[in-house]
Amino acid sequence: MKTFSKSFTQQESIPQAAIDQAVTILKSGRLHRYNVAEGETSETSLLEQEYAAYQGAKYCLACASGGYAMHIALRAFGLQQGDKVLTNAFTLSPVPGAIHNAGGKPVLVETTEDLVADLTDLERKIKQSSARVMLLSHMRGHIVDMDALCALLDKHNVALIEDCAHTMGASWNGHKSGNFGVAACFSTQTYKHINSGEGGFITTDDKELIARAIIHSGSYMLYDRHDAAPGAEFFDQIRLENPNYSGRMDNLRAAILRPQLNVLDDNCRRWNERYQTIESVLAATTGLRVIQRYEKEYYVGSSIQFLVNDIGNAEIPALVNKCLERGVEIKWFGTTQPTGYTSRHDSWRYVEPQSLPVSDRILSMLCDLRIPLTFTVEDCRLIGEIISECATELHELGDSSAAIAQAS
Ligand SMILES: *Cc1c(COP(=O)(O)O)cnc(C)c1O
Repeated sequence: MKTFSKSFTQQESIPQAAIDQAVTILKSGRLHRYNVAEGETSETSLLEQEYAAYQGAKYCLACASGGYAMHIALRAFGLQQGDKVLTNAFTLSPVPGAIHNAGGKPVLVETTEDLVADLTDLERKIKQSSARVMLLSHMRGHIVDMDALCALLDKHNVALIEDCAHTMGASWNGHKSGNFGVAACFSTQTYKHINSGEGGFITTDDKELIARAIIHSGSYMLYDRHDAAPGAEFFDQIRLENPNYSGRMDNLRAAILRPQLNVLDDNCRRWNERYQTIESVLAATTGLRVIQRYEKEYYVGSSIQFLVNDIGNAEIPALVNKCLERGVEIKWFGTTQPTGYTSRHDSWRYVEPQSLPVSDRILSMLCDLRIPLTFTVEDCRLIGEIISECATELHELGDSSAAIAQAS
């Protein structure tokens, strides 16, 4: 029997150039982003310039986490206490958490079988809620038809902020994910596409939004030490009107991240090789449905999802257990109790309960696994085969018990 033994949470080590630069920063003692020597540009400010260039955005702010980036992006956008914010029902808890933190009320939008926002439901909820902003989560890297989404939001005058925690490096029709709305938020937490333990970015072309975000992030009156930002004169009013919600990035994290930007695109290709290897095995397995992608979508397959649509929801825990016994760690979005990183909208009790029958049905069939780059392509083939064998066994068991039930 085939088994797998590597860890699903083991990332690659940090590149040597990043380790060397981190040591240099440690030796300097200047870890705080505004602690610079005469004439020096801080590591954090350099990172912001480089990320803005990578992303193709005018401005960038590095901050404490992806969740924090979303929180202050909403505030910098001008969200007021009690305002509604449209977002996907299928996302991770930091998204409704950031909306809550900014004083907003999440309005959850149904998910399609392809794990993107349902645009018909979105239009209905825009009309019902009169929300002025959507925080769109490209959850697990699935990108909705951005042409249709943007047209719909434009038609109803709803602003877009993108949560690109899983789409750093991805694009739609040749345009980087994150460049479709007023602002985008990214995470550099260990399980995302670049790794500083914790961290986040906001990118935008909007001068006022970035200036407010910089003040919110805790820049004291040192905003002139931001180089991926508008000129200091622009902050005259903004600096006095916007509270400090301290959540800066530090130079140590920035030093760890800068060399990783150089290998990001290459890593995205490596993820996709691995993703497509697992996907091709699962796609050929009876009872499993892989997620369809748009032709215009260039995704980053740092995790993979599939729907179990044949063996019955009651059987899914058995599939998860069988795979786990053979070393393959699958997360199921159907458990009633949130476990690890897997959670459902009904476990976010601080959000007004909402009826989402379509998403509930899809999540009850949805399985998820991480693809760290420490897995080889061969590892991924083996993982696919183990899942496929386990699903086939259950499928056959189901068929024979159905036959027995019919015969008796
Ligand atoms: C991880 C994640 C975030 C936020 O990231 P943190 O840096 O952990 O705060 C936001 N959205 C999604 C979908 C995520 O998975």
